[in-house]
Amino acid sequence: MMANRMDPNLLIDLKRYGEKGAVNIEACFNCGNCTAVCPLTSDDHPFPRNTIRLMQLGLKDQILQSSDPWLCYYCGECTETCPRGAEPAEAQMALRRWLTAQYDWTGLARKFYTSEVWEIGSIILVGVLIALAFIFFHGPIVTDQVELNTFAPVDVIHIGDWIMALLLLFFLLTNALRMHNFIMRRGTKTKIPLAAYASELWSLPYHFATQKRWATCEERPSWISHLLLVSGYVLMLVIIVFFLPWFQTDNVYPLYHPQRWLGYYATIVLLYGAGRAIWGRLEKARQMHRFSHASDWMFPILLFTVTLTGILVHIFRYAGLPMATYVTYVVHLALLVPMLVLEVPFGKWSHLAYRPLAIYFEAVKVKAREMEQAELAPATV
Ligand code: SF4
Ligand code: SF4
Repeated sequence: MMANRMDPNLLIDLKRYGEKGAVNIEACFNCGNCTAVCPLTSDDHPFPRNTIRLMQLGLKDQILQSSDPWLCYYCGECTETCPRGAEPAEAQMALRRWLTAQYDWTGLARKFYTSEVWEIGSIILVGVLIALAFIFFHGPIVTDQVELNTFAPVDVIHIGDWIMALLLLFFLLTNALRMHNFIMRRGTKTKIPLAAYASELWSLPYHFATQKRWATCEERPSWISHLLLVSGYVLMLVIIVFFLPWFQTDNVYPLYHPQRWLGYYATIVLLYGAGRAIWGRLEKARQMHRFSHASDWMFPILLFTVTLTGILVHIFRYAGLPMATYVTYVVHLALLVPMLVLEVPFGKWSHLAYRPLAIYFEAVKVKAREMEQAELAPATV
C-alpha cells in the first residue's frame, strides 16, 4: 500500500550517504531539465526529478517502494544540465547507498556506508582472522620445493569456499527478499500472479550478465570495460567455489591448458577493470568520478590487490619459491575473503544484484498489468 508519511529527518540522513557536499537537492526547483535529458527515463519512471521531489518532501515509504534509483546508471548527463547545481546524478547514487542500507536487515551496510572506521575496521578484522587461521592451522611447511596443497590442503580451503559462498548467498537473498517486499508487495496495487514472475524470469540473468541498459546511457568503452570486469569476477567466483581442486594444484599444466588460460583471462580483465576504476576516480575527468565515497574506493582497491597477490602466488610457485608462495597465498586470502563476504552483500557491489532485480520487478509489474487487463477484456466487450 502506498504511504505518504513525511520524515523530516530523511534529507539529513540521506546526506550521510553522499560524499561531502554532493547531495544538494535543496537547490532543486523542479524544472525537469534532468528528466528531459536522461536517456533512461520513461513516462512510468520520470527520474531523477521524481525521486528528488520525494527526497525533498521526506516521503521515505514512497522512496523505499520505488525501483527508480536502480534504473539510473550514473552517466551524469542530468548533473551537467542542471541549472541549480543540485547534483541530481550524485543524489541518485546516495539514494542507492541508502536503499542498500534499508534492504540490509543486519545493519552492516548502514555502518559501512556511514563510517569509514566501520568499513575499514571490519575488512581488517576479517583479514586478520583469516591470517590467524593459517598461522595456527596451516599444514606442513615444505621448503625444498613448492607444495601449496600441503601447506593449505585444497579440501579444507574448498570447504571454506563453500561456507563463504553460502554466507554470501544467504545475506544477498534475504536482503533481496526485503527489496521485493518493499517494491512488489507494498509498492503496487496490482495483484502479481506467479505466472508474471515466471514469464519475466529470463530478464534477471540477462540484465545481470549484460548490464544492457548501461550501454544506452554510457559511452561504449566504459560499458565494455565493466562487462569484462564482471566476466572475470564471475569466472573467478565459479572457479573457486566449484572447481578449486582443479585450479589450486601443484601440477604445472602446459600453457594451452584451460586451467591456465582461463586463469590468465580472469586476472587480465580484473586488473584492467579494477585499475581503470581506480584511475578514473583519481583523474576525476568524468562526471561519475567527481565524487568518490569511501565505498567507491574500497572494492576496486581490494579487487586490484587480490588479483595482484593471485598473480604473485602464481609467479612464486612457478619460480620455485616456497616461502614466498605460502606467505603471499595467505595475504591473498586475507584480502579475498573480506572482499567477498563484506563488500559484495553489504557494500557497493551489491548493486550487481539489486539493479537486475529492479529491472526484473518492473518487468513483472508490467506483465501483471497486461494479464489483469487481458482477464478483464472479455467482460467489457
Ligand atoms: S535537479 Fe536540477 S535539473 Fe533536475 S529538476 Fe532540479 S533543478 Fe531542475
Ligand atoms: S545519471 Fe544519467 S541515467 Fe542517471 S538520472 Fe542522470 S541522466 Fe539519468
